Amino acid sequence: MPRPKQFRKVAEEPRVSVFKPAGIPRVELDEILVTVDEFEAFRLADFERLNQREASSVMHVSQPTFNRILSSARNKIAEAVVKGAALRFEGGEYVLPCDVRVFQCNDCGESTEAPMGVPRPRECPACGSNSLARMKRVKESGETET
Ligand SMILES: [Zn+2]
Repeated sequence: MPRPKQFRKVAEEPRVSVFKPAGIPRVELDEILVTVDEFEAFRLADFERLNQREASSVMHVSQPTFNRILSSARNKIAEAVVKGAALRFEGGEYVLPCDVRVFQCNDCGESTEAPMGVPRPRECPACGSNSLARMKRVKESGETET
């Protein structure tokens, strides 16, 4: 059986798509592209302060992969700060929580995830049963109290 395609989980997209130095027209700035998965690695490691083991598991990648993504993010962000360039957060290989399908095993109740566009899992990872049911996604409330 082919290995399932790797996907990097990103909890949320960056709040802004461009981050730029004040007072300089954008046309005069160099722009450095940081992908959304790089941004997520940076956010988890340096903002949420997760260790690499926790952060790599949150993103659903191996630790060496996480490390590589994080180094790349840090280098780009450092370069922008040092050189006074703009940062653009865009693109990359990732899935958002709304893109993830959840399947539950009818036999043992274990749940497993697969992103959209990837074949559904055949077997329960816990007990090997092939009786899996797609779960209805619990919609996260977008309502905010003000
Ligand atoms: Zn099971």
